[in-house]
Amino acid sequence: MTLKKERSISEISIIPEPVKIIPEDGEFILTNKTVILTDAQLKKNAEFLKKILTQATGFNLPIKEIPPRDKDSNVIILKVNDNNKKLKPEGYSLHISPTEINISAITPAGVFYGIQTLLQILPPEIESSNATNLVWAILCVKIEDYPRFPWRGFMLDESRHFFGKDVVKKLLDQMARLKFNKFHWHLTDDQGWRIEIKKYPLLTEIGSKRKGTITPQNRLDGIPVSGFYSQNDLKEIIDYAAERFITIIPEIDVPGHTTAFIASYPELSCTGGPFEVSTHFGIHREVLCIGKEKTFQVVQDIFDEIIEIFPSEIIHTGGDETPTRRWKRCPDCQTRLNKEGLEKLGDLQVYFTNRIADYLSSQGCRLMGWNEILNEKLSKNAVCQYWFGQILEVIDHIRNGRDVIMSEMTAVYLNYPYKITPLIKTYQYDPIPNDLEEKYHQYILGIEACLWAEFVKDRKRLEWQVFPRLIAVAETGWTPKKKKNFNSFEKRLDSYLKRLEISGINYGQ
Ligand SMILES: [Zn+2]
Repeated sequence: MTLKKERSISEISIIPEPVKIIPEDGEFILTNKTVILTDAQLKKNAEFLKKILTQATGFNLPIKEIPPRDKDSNVIILKVNDNNKKLKPEGYSLHISPTEINISAITPAGVFYGIQTLLQILPPEIESSNATNLVWAILCVKIEDYPRFPWRGFMLDESRHFFGKDVVKKLLDQMARLKFNKFHWHLTDDQGWRIEIKKYPLLTEIGSKRKGTITPQNRLDGIPVSGFYSQNDLKEIIDYAAERFITIIPEIDVPGHTTAFIASYPELSCTGGPFEVSTHFGIHREVLCIGKEKTFQVVQDIFDEIIEIFPSEIIHTGGDETPTRRWKRCPDCQTRLNKEGLEKLGDLQVYFTNRIADYLSSQGCRLMGWNEILNEKLSKNAVCQYWFGQILEVIDHIRNGRDVIMSEMTAVYLNYPYKITPLIKTYQYDPIPNDLEEKYHQYILGIEACLWAEFVKDRKRLEWQVFPRLIAVAETGWTPKKKKNFNSFEKRLDSYLKRLEISGINYGQ
């Protein structure tokens, strides 16, 4: 080496904390002679790794298939090994020795998570687009790892404010680094409809625009808010997420939180309107009419397009905060109530949810909704997302075999001020309720952090709310409970925050 290069500092500081880490002597030096060796089925993983390494180091690392093996060079080997009984779904083993880096797993997803760990063992400058003056020394180590929960999610509300593709992709990048696998996308609400539906163009022509937002002083700010994703945009983001082994769960919130929906199609309400896309927040009394057959036709048509666009088996249909006031005075809703032999107004919601759940399952999909959908009569197959209210009631449903995702609002709603929900509170929240017997733990599919965007208007503020609390949620979703430790997390967080800075991402506290 003729040019004097700065030596990078590698350390084993990984979030989420892996199941097992055994440090070894020596180091692997990443150079422009390093070769990535891979199975044909891991081509996308290899390209993902290559892109990041090339961008930071300036080395153009070749990707070759195994075999043949180039004995002279130092190599990074990516391999699916489905005979290895020790490896678990989404798990991986990573072995860094002075001559080679070996990542193996039983699925491509597992290999992907091994790559994320490797990236965190590399110095933070690996997240830079230009750090060509470094010697890339990587400490030797052996890691065996797998997740605690199959569902590790993050929800973004883009109805209240619209952030757009680039912001979403940056979030997906971080989710990938932190081994999240579900991106729940809240695309419709009272204040805006953000997804193109070809059969009902007014949803975006009218529903994606509002004239302003009510300030805390109760005045209209007069700043218009608009924006939506075309179906082509969605496909682009779905592919981007899929390359990172993240499934996108779309949410169309029905039958409440539908002011933007019925502003576009007022005939689907009980009163017929007219309505405006809402400029204020909170629970809105205008909801879909459950009496009219047309409501079901339109909602099913919308879900037909959603299913066509999104590969996810699970489709989120909201179902939160739905007042019954309009149903009470609506002749169509009253007829429905009598005809179906429903006892009370509130039963109209479970009737609605079950009809949509049946429709979705006829299309090979599964309904997910907020915990307000819970009801003894609710379709057994529906997944419940717990956010608020009586946990004991939810525990009863879990004991009856209901699958649940945990998003307890005071712990993992990332829009809350840090004063109310400090990092340690988010970190210490455990998605498995204390009172739940072990044999039912399998019904808790995982944890999901949520960002509601009523008061989050731009990217900087969004990232400030999300980080570092999302990093804490990542550890809860992945790391075994007994290995979690806040002091250790805080130390590792320092290193992770450096990575965020290099990636140009804002963070709070
Ligand atoms: Zn009605």
